[in-house]
Amino acid sequence: MTDVDPATETFVEQWRDHAYSCFSSGHKFCRNVCPVMGVTQDENHSPTAFHANVVAMEQGLVSLEDVARDYVHCTQCGACETRCPNTLMAGDFYRHRTRTVDLVKAMRALAVDNGIEQPGWKRWVDETVRVRSEPVLDVPVEQERVAEWADGLDLPIGGETILFVDCEAAFHRTSLPRAVARILQASGVAFGLMREQWCCGGPSREMGYVDTAREFARHNLADWRDSGVRRVIALDPHDYVAFTEDYVEYFGDDYDIEVVFITELVAELIRDGRLQLTNPVEAVATYHDPCRLNKRRGIFESPREILRAIPGLEFRDVDHVTQWSYCSGAGGGLAVERPDLTAAISGQRLDRAAALEVDTLVSACVWSERPLSRAGTDRGIEVRDLMELVAEAAGLGVDPPGTGGQPAAGGSAADRRMA
Ligand code: SF4
Repeated sequence: MTDVDPATETFVEQWRDHAYSCFSSGHKFCRNVCPVMGVTQDENHSPTAFHANVVAMEQGLVSLEDVARDYVHCTQCGACETRCPNTLMAGDFYRHRTRTVDLVKAMRALAVDNGIEQPGWKRWVDETVRVRSEPVLDVPVEQERVAEWADGLDLPIGGETILFVDCEAAFHRTSLPRAVARILQASGVAFGLMREQWCCGGPSREMGYVDTAREFARHNLADWRDSGVRRVIALDPHDYVAFTEDYVEYFGDDYDIEVVFITELVAELIRDGRLQLTNPVEAVATYHDPCRLNKRRGIFESPREILRAIPGLEFRDVDHVTQWSYCSGAGGGLAVERPDLTAAISGQRLDRAAALEVDTLVSACVWSERPLSRAGTDRGIEVRDLMELVAEAAGLGVDPPGTGGQPAAGGSAADRRMA
């Protein structure tokens, strides 16, 4: 390498073995499952290209400036890692796993460190820093209103277990945390809220702003420790990934917080008879696996167990192999920089649901629900949140979105590009 800054040199050194492993195998199966490639058909947006660029950078054939924008085109879904034979076969023997998501995150961070910023992401992160929560669209986001969704629920602050409420849920889809709170209360699960909840930091990290993400993580961990928290319940897969991957990286052995995803806990509550689902929910439904749950963290059974426990609901499952490629397109900051692609990927997802002749698509990811809902409207399929269905089946009632917090407005991922 010639005439590159030390940070770029270190980056290439760190990723060269992964890059050559991908570049030399040449099978490119990953392109068939990549949701972004599925709509752009642009080779520059492929997991293969993301690795080949590192080889080309080492050879001095391309620069960081040449390729940085290409890395916008990734939802960090993890499908390519799951599909890659280098993970499936060589991984067993050599303990080698393809790590495209980490590579994309590292390249984005390198770009930010070198002053190469994407305009939508910069505005998004700047605004997150200003208000301490993500700038969820269509509603005013202010730190002092972060727990307004819980009005009237009589929830304590702190305690051994707390519920972390994602920014989209806290400010826009407030019906979700209210449903979750009622489910936990009805099941006898003691829990509280944070003294001062900030964004988990995951989106900033995904967009390449590592220092900002670390600052948010430090604040949240300090808040948990100051109020005696030992266990965090996450209701959004993006938060769950941040807490179980990013925070572990930041804090190492000092990170002693148990993190539980809500579907795992609710499935257990139903199994143990602590939560009774007795009210029929008349729907023919399929399930949208959030990428960060099934492909990133291996959680795919508990949502299905819950769906099968809802009386009146006919559950039609997706194909177990092709579902690797299913994605809403809302993750990894794609909806901020390329809302057109998010809309197209959501459209593909709803086409697959329509092929199962369902009237309902159930998701366990609040960030997926706006773009999926928009695509669902066009196809006559309602998009519902799994926890809201559970609350309905348990006879706990479901508030209209916005109850207890901000009034919910329309909008979609396509609207997420901040003006
Ligand atoms: S993580 Fe997902 S979106 Fe990103 S390159 Fe891999 S398959 Fe494509």
